[in-house]
Amino acid sequence: MRYNKIRKMDISNGPGIRISVFMQGCPFHCEGCFNPETWDFDGGKEFSDETINHIIELCGKEHISGLSILGGEPLHKDNIDGTTKLAKAFKEKYPNKTLWIWTGNLFESLKNKEILKYADTIVDGQFKIELSSPLLKWKGSSNQRVIDVKKSVKEDKVVLYETEEFEGVTA
Ligand code: SF4
Repeated sequence: MRYNKIRKMDISNGPGIRISVFMQGCPFHCEGCFNPETWDFDGGKEFSDETINHIIELCGKEHISGLSILGGEPLHKDNIDGTTKLAKAFKEKYPNKTLWIWTGNLFESLKNKEILKYADTIVDGQFKIELSSPLLKWKGSSNQRVIDVKKSVKEDKVVLYETEEFEGVTA
């Protein structure tokens, strides 16, 4: 498994100041994708236990609110094991910091996956250029959903994360 980059101070992907990790490899190839350099599964750098340890250490800084995992496609079959390992290590070390994950898969397809034990919020769905707007918060197009994972698992249905101040506004 491989990753593209780590951002040590990200204020655009989730609430607060966050560490962001962009995994390498995405099969969806959405038109207008912001990160086409992450599509190639052979690109980027090796994602190893040392990478995980480095990310966990970065997340320990007091001003860091949490970890965001994006792509590429972090939940592709070639990436999900490494993403889950990172997610587990993060939540065990920092139970009070939040974990956000972006995926092109729909939330319904993740039922019973271990990753749901660790993620607080999942932004799901592929980017659709015809539904895109810069006014949407934490997602690129209006078909995507910012999902409260804990509530959704508990209620066995999709429950949206509640601060969608720009929800419904389209360009
Ligand atoms: S799912 Fe995300 S990373 Fe993959 S092509 Fe679509 S927008 Fe790009």
